[in-house]
Amino acid sequence: MAVSVVLPSLGRLFEMPATLVHELQRHLLSDSTSDLHLKTFDPSLEQIAKADKFFTATAGNRIEYLSSAVRLDHAPDLPRPEVCFIGRSNVGKSSLIKALFSLAPEVEVRISKKPGHTKKMNFFKVGKYFTLVDMPGYGYRAPEDFVDMVEPYLKERKNLMRTFLLVDSVVGIQKADSIAIEMCEELALPYVMVLTKIDKSSMGHLLKQVLQIQKFVNTSTQGCFPQLFPVSAVTYSGIHLLRCFIANITGHLKT
Ligand code: GDP
Repeated sequence: MAVSVVLPSLGRLFEMPATLVHELQRHLLSDSTSDLHLKTFDPSLEQIAKADKFFTATAGNRIEYLSSAVRLDHAPDLPRPEVCFIGRSNVGKSSLIKALFSLAPEVEVRISKKPGHTKKMNFFKVGKYFTLVDMPGYGYRAPEDFVDMVEPYLKERKNLMRTFLLVDSVVGIQKADSIAIEMCEELALPYVMVLTKIDKSSMGHLLKQVLQIQKFVNTSTQGCFPQLFPVSAVTYSGIHLLRCFIANITGHLKT
């Protein structure tokens, strides 16, 4: 089966030296069946700068926490397009959302991690543009959290444009991630895989993980966007591109 990796953006995503991009390219092209994806998200610097403006809090562009809900019928009824972030506990979801909102430092990304505390869906308004939803982290209680909250939301939320499924790049796809992937596939949702904590591994380990996950996406998924989004909430690598992708899929950026 062909292994395709989105090459044009890799250097920018990882802030990787050109030699390493070429090394990866050589590695991939050695597979004669390689079929490089043409449909990639590779915005211009102008588009990236424009997208950052949507995420920048100003008097005319309010970015704020709206409300939390424990059940879908408690979720705010919002007309704007919505994107949601799902991932197992400790994957780096709160850190990523904080990084996405770093241009709106007043926004408080609420975290309730204490065992026994009710997990909630948290809704954030991003200007007049879209709503970002932080879904409860799953893991030790999965699949219960899916059944109670995540699945009904994903199944029924009418204005949900895209689901961002976070995978820890250090350890790759774990059992709890597979359950979430299966659910997205079964519901035929359009989703995107975001690889977190890319600053933590050596470049060699990271490339190995990226190739493995990319191969999985290419060969075993239908609804997953073919381009992976590697990010670091520490170095901010990949954060601008992810903001730009969100602006694009919520219909606010022409690429
Ligand atoms: P959540 O449970 O998914 O919300 O995960 P958190 O955002 O709380 O992160 C879990 C742990 O991973 C924390 O100790 C974070 O400091 C750490 N972490 C999260 N993102 C990154 C990252 O990009 N790089 C590094 N090095 N650590 C991270």
